[in-house]
Amino acid sequence: MEKNILVTRSSMPEYEEYIEEIKDIWDSRWLTNMGAKHQKLIEELKAYLGVEHLDLLTNGHMALELTLQALNLSGEVITTPFTFISTTHAITRNGLTPVFCDIDPETYTMDPNKIEALITEKTCAIMPVHVYGNVCDVEAIEAIAKKHNLKVIYDAAHVFGVKYKGKGIGSFGDASCFSFHATKVFNTIEGGAAIIRDPEAAERLYRLKDFGILDSERIDCIGPNAKMNEFCAAMGLCNLRHVDGEIAKRKAAADCYRKELAVLEGLRLNCEQADVTPNYAYFPVLIDPDRFGMNRDELCEKLKEAHIFARKYFYPCVNAAECYSDRYNAEDTPIALDYSHKVLTLPMFADLTEDDVRRICAVIKNCHK
Ligand SMILES: *Cc1c(COP(=O)(O)O)cnc(C)c1O
Repeated sequence: MEKNILVTRSSMPEYEEYIEEIKDIWDSRWLTNMGAKHQKLIEELKAYLGVEHLDLLTNGHMALELTLQALNLSGEVITTPFTFISTTHAITRNGLTPVFCDIDPETYTMDPNKIEALITEKTCAIMPVHVYGNVCDVEAIEAIAKKHNLKVIYDAAHVFGVKYKGKGIGSFGDASCFSFHATKVFNTIEGGAAIIRDPEAAERLYRLKDFGILDSERIDCIGPNAKMNEFCAAMGLCNLRHVDGEIAKRKAAADCYRKELAVLEGLRLNCEQADVTPNYAYFPVLIDPDRFGMNRDELCEKLKEAHIFARKYFYPCVNAAECYSDRYNAEDTPIALDYSHKVLTLPMFADLTEDDVRRICAVIKNCHK
């Protein structure tokens, strides 16, 4: 039987490298609560991402949720339905109201031309997502935000290491949140980071992730526990040493896919953006059933029969998910809804070999009419 190819596979350092990294945790007996590894990882990530300030959290979701809380927002947040459910949950769980804006058909990111029509007197912020590693139209979004005095918080879960016009992607907007989940380009097993421009809000986030504790006798805000522990930070220190090499390996896999799938009628490859240094986080393809000869779901099944596990990412469209569909009509964002039925993310990870890619593409070509 042919080996399974899963949609993703975590990047990890050599076993010995991690063991070496965690040795001093046994000496210090400092396992969590902003220890030495935590501090060191913050410094190294600031340098790598080209940002002045950064805080670490248990996961990317808590980064989003606590960033919104730290910014003291209330009212409506304009966001995209074409994302992982976490983006929307972070808004809703803060008592804020998501307002869905449709996406640009080329980049799958929020369409800036459709934002202004959604602004009301209750709008407080825009929360776009750099989806699949594609960079949002940051200039247009920030011009709108400035004009209407709105905050911009980017869900940057997919764009670790991406640069726009030579600048680290985390330096755009009022805040950006990264995910360091095991499946992401850079991982700390579970983890996340928040980059908040306003120092006061950043300070608030630092306390919010530790129950809102101000000092040993004062607790002045209501926060959960969302601190990154030392073992996760140690994994981050190791993975960061190799991340450029991992991205280069992803690029080789992406180049191979592009070559193999270049002229397949009815299958559209992800866009390549000018001025963007990409990270090859995902490999989405858009299937037009009439021209391809089979729909996305059928192609996904055929791949599964060949022991290849692609993912319908993102399906369902967030405003069509059970927990939101009673309050929203997914038809209001027709492109996002349509694409949620047409996009398939193919396996993509650093250790995906060119032979694997050719095996995947052979199945796809076989399905093509
Ligand atoms: C992974 C992801 C998150 C959540 O990150 P976790 O670290 O898993 O909590 C949020 N938004 C998007 C777009 C993601 O892909």
